[in-house]
This record gives sequence, C-alpha cells and structure tokens, in this order.
Amino acid sequence: IFQKPSQVKEGKVTWKEGEPVPYAALVAAFSEIQATTKRLEITEILTQFLIRVIKRSPDNLLQVTYLCINRLCPDYEGLELGIGESLLIKAIAQSTGREVPRIKKDLEAQGDLGLVALSSRKKQPTMFQVSSLKVPAVFKQLREIAAVSGNKSQDRKIGIIKKLLASCQGEEPKFLIRSLEGKLRIGLAERSVLVSLARAVVISRLGKRVERMSQEELARKLEEGTELVKAVYSELPSYDLVVPALLASGTEGLRDACKLTPGVPLKPMLAKPTKAITEVLDRFEGKAFTCEYKYDGERAQVHYLDDGRLLVFSRNSENMSVKYPDLVEQIPRCLEPSVKSFVLDAEAAAWRKAEVDPQTGKAEPARLLPFQELSRRKRKDVKAEDIKVKVKLFGFDLLYLNGQPLLGMSLAERRKLLRQHFKPVEDEFDFARSEDCTSVEEISTFLENSVKEGCEGLMVKMLDGPDSTYEPSRRSMNWLKLKKDYLSGTGDSLDLVVIGGYYGKGKRTNVYGAFLLACYDADSESYQSICKIGTGFTEADLDAHYTTLKALEITSKKGYYDVGDAKPDVYFDAKVVWEVLTADLSLSPVYTAAKGLVDHRGISLRFPRFIRPRGRYWS
Ligand code: ATP
Repeated sequence: IFQKPSQVKEGKVTWKEGEPVPYAALVAAFSEIQATTKRLEITEILTQFLIRVIKRSPDNLLQVTYLCINRLCPDYEGLELGIGESLLIKAIAQSTGREVPRIKKDLEAQGDLGLVALSSRKKQPTMFQVSSLKVPAVFKQLREIAAVSGNKSQDRKIGIIKKLLASCQGEEPKFLIRSLEGKLRIGLAERSVLVSLARAVVISRLGKRVERMSQEELARKLEEGTELVKAVYSELPSYDLVVPALLASGTEGLRDACKLTPGVPLKPMLAKPTKAITEVLDRFEGKAFTCEYKYDGERAQVHYLDDGRLLVFSRNSENMSVKYPDLVEQIPRCLEPSVKSFVLDAEAAAWRKAEVDPQTGKAEPARLLPFQELSRRKRKDVKAEDIKVKVKLFGFDLLYLNGQPLLGMSLAERRKLLRQHFKPVEDEFDFARSEDCTSVEEISTFLENSVKEGCEGLMVKMLDGPDSTYEPSRRSMNWLKLKKDYLSGTGDSLDLVVIGGYYGKGKRTNVYGAFLLACYDADSESYQSICKIGTGFTEADLDAHYTTLKALEITSKKGYYDVGDAKPDVYFDAKVVWEVLTADLSLSPVYTAAKGLVDHRGISLRFPRFIRPRGRYWS
C-alpha cells in the first residue's frame, strides 16, 4: 500500500517550509479520511499528511497529533474537550446571528452540530476577508477553552469559540465544532494515528534512501518502526514525550529515549475472564502459575518520584492523589529505606479496623468492606478530616524500582523485589494474598476463602518465563480472572453508557425511573442501544443519577446514537458509564447492539441489573 516519497501526493492545501500548518490543511486531511472506511487507506492518507508536516513544520507535529486524536494533553493532566451542546449552540447562534431555536431545529434534523455550524455559516455571507487559521493557534485556543473555569467561564468560552468560528473558512467550522464536542467522527482511531505517526517518521528519516529500497525491505522497516512505537507508547503514554523523541532520534533511538517513567501512568495490564476452574488449569497446565485474591476496590497505580512526590493514578490514568490524600500519607510507611523511586500496581480497598462493637461489646476483627463504601468518596478536594472510610492498599505488582523499569522481568522476579522493598503495615498496606495452587480442589478452596474475606474472586497469573512479563494495556491470557459470579453462571458484568432516561411513575415521579443503555461500537463510532434498565437501584441511587444526568440532558438524539426502536423520554450526553449484570443475552427486534453481526436483529440483555457507576461522574 505504501507509495514511495516521490509518489507522495501534495495535499489540497499547501504551505511553505517553516510556516505553521494551516488548519485548512488538517481539515482537508480529515475530509479525505472521512470519505473512506478502509483502515489501510485512512493510515495512508494520514501518513502522507504527517510526512508533509514533518518536512515543513516539525514543531507542529505534536499539536497535529493531538488534534487527530481529539485530545489536548496526556490523560493524566485531565484537560479535556467535550464542551456541552447548549454552550456550542449559543456560540454558533451568536457568531452567525441565527436564533437558538432555529439552530436546535436544524440539529434535530441533521443530528450533527458540526454540520449545523457549517450550514449556518453558509447562510451567513462573510463581509470581510478573514485570515486563515493555523494549527498552533487553534490548538492553543482549544486548550484555553478547556481550561477556563470559575466566574463567567461560560461567556469566556463562548467568546473564544465565536472568534474561532469567525475566522473559519470552508469545512473548518464542521471539524472545529466536532473537536469542541469531543467527537471527530471520521473513523480515525488512536491506533491508526499511532501507526501513521510511526510510518511518517520512518519514511521521513530514510529520505532518499527509500527510493533504493525494495518494497519488502521498506515494508519490514515500517513494520519494525510501528511495533516499536506502539510498544514504547504503551509504556510511556505521553505524546508530549514520545513525539519530540521521535523527531529527535527517529524510531531507532526511541527505546533509549522513552522508558517507563514515574509520574507518567502506563495503561494497566488487564485480565481475561474465565468461566470455570478447569479452564484455568487448561490454560496453565504444566506451567508455573499463581493465584491471588481479587480485591474489590479501585485500581491504584502508585508512582513515587525521585523528588519525593507520590502520585496515585486510576485504571484510566486519572490522577487520584486528590481523592486519596490518606493513601498518599500512608504509603511512605510501607517502604524499606532502600526505596528511592517506584511504580506499584495495587488495589485500594475500603477497610474497617478491628474494633469492639459498642452495642454488643464483642471484639470485631478487621475486614474488607464492599467497593460501594469507596465509591461514596468524593473525587476531588477530599480533606483528610472528612474521610470516614479507611483505605487499605494491596500491592500485587512492581513495575519500576530505583531507576529501573521491571516490565520485562518475570512475575516471580517482580514479586520478589516487591516483597524485598515493601513491608506490610497494619490497616494500611499488605501484599495481595497469594497461593501457588496446582489442583482444582486447591483453587476452589482458595476461591471460597477469598469470597469469605470479602473479595470478588481470584486472579490467576503466569508466574515464570517469558509469558509472565507485564504487558501494559493488554487484556492478556496470562492473567485470568475467576469471579464467584461466573461460577454461578451469570458471567462477567458489562460496562454500558447511559444515553437516555424514562420519566418515573408512582414513587419515582421526581426522578428518572428507568434508563436506556448503550454500548460503543468503535467501527461505526456510534452508541448502539442494548437495553432499558430499571432494576438494582436504591432510592438514593435514583436521586444521585437524577442530579448527574439532568445536567447532561440534550436537545435531541445525537446523530451517532443508533437506538433502533427504543424511545426514551429524554436523551443524555454519553458521559456516564455503569457496570451492569445480566442473566443472559437475547436477540431483540428493538435494540441495535451488534446488529448484523450474528443476526439481522440486535442483542439485548435479559434482566439487566445496575451494580455501580464506573465512569468519571462517580458521586
Ligand atoms: P473487573 O470488573 O473484573 O474489575 P476490569 O475490566 O476492571 O474488570 P479486569 O482485568 O477484568 O479489570 O480485572 C482486573 C482488575 O481487578 C484490576 O483492574 C484491579 O482493579 C482488580 N484487582 C484486584 N485484585 C487484583 C490482583 N491481585 N491482581 C490484579 N488485579 C486485581
């Protein structure tokens, strides 16, 4: 598929070497990408565009990359787009002189605010010749919009958006508004951006040498470069660090320049579900493996930097240090003096200390509390004196120690280092309980015990050899999870997005009584409806959901909601994720999940039951 540089096409919009990338050039690439659904073609279009960027404006490569993945910074910095619909409607109205109700009507008809912005402008003749937008300026202003907070922040955001819209030409308003909404919808997955970036860097650095290479040799170089960039990025997921390193030393120098670094959270390794203990034995037969308690808390990736800073990151790389000031205070006590820096993989679980029950006078042993106790904690501005539920940390893996990444070591070696350099502290820290079981009976007893002690079940992990290295961001066969729920036949839970609500009746009159859930289909970039859910909620849950979701109500169904025949009373912005259990899957003429994959009907859930919120809007 790759064409040699002499065949690299010039884009529709060109610019001179040394000048900033025109926003119109990026938008032209987006339009071209949107016109195809073929992944290889998408990669090719973006690769060619990035080659031009590297040649003419290498300083803009980072901003271009961020605009392609619709982000503004690494996840852990927490600056995000995803501006609410009503604010964008106001900005479009003010910049085009159209009335809000007309824009809302257009939105209902077109289902895409980007298209509405485009057509609104076309109706509005521009009186002045405007200067063309450049990528660095657009990026800077998007960051400003995302960062504005406090008094009059809405007006200030609208002010910047209006100014940007006023300078837009051609298709720019469409993509600008979509970027602001946080949904580019051109079928450009982050994976493809990463691959294109790697290919563009390889080609650019080979320069004229490419012309003398055979297609096979070139294909091999591209493949090697791509694999390397992917591996390095999963260890150090920060374009802020990876892009400059790629520009400075190409893919060859990347391994030395970019390594797991305390302060930059890596995407955690995940486990595959298993339905039976025999399945575990089938997988690990004849190999060394270990079983660990699967604690029911929140994943905590703890980073300790040379300068003494201690940071706690969530499973999704959010900085949780403000949610867990108690953990930050506690952790140094479990370190041996030998420790200078580390990255620890652990589970933070709610914990009750041993106490004498004031009612009965009986001594109650210390114990794990259910996850719900932890989810009640606020996510921000938590003050140590307000904390009611104690947190205990259970360490299960060590990924970095005193300047050295440990990812390539076996689990047995990593575990040894963990136990050498950390020590249990009562009510504060312990190693995840483990046992190297070998038979169904042993695993079964250990599983029973884990559940009795308040855990979800077991994690079973490859212990030795090359298959026991730490695989960032992979859901790996080398980690299996064995939950008690699976054994009772209910299977794994599902994480689903709340996209609609149904007004409550009777006791539920003042809140939503049921909700429409959807799953995200990355191929079509759409949310597909999967079920209506009204079970598993306490009254307090329903009140909390009402408060959270009311603020996310939108004017009409988004163009990328594929709901089939489901008819909720209101729609929500897709921002809230719930964990849901189901008795079984069923085919449904109403819902659209996986439609066409196994049947002409979609898939739905039988007896769906709410378990807990999963997304970032936890109360
Ligand atoms: P789940 O709903 O099962 O937590 P998940 O998709 O969040 O699913 P999985 O890979 O399926 O993640 O399960 C691993 C999760 O279990 C980890 O993210 C971690 O939070 C938790 N956990 C608890 N104890 C352990 C342990 N000993 N080793 C690894 N993970 C553990």
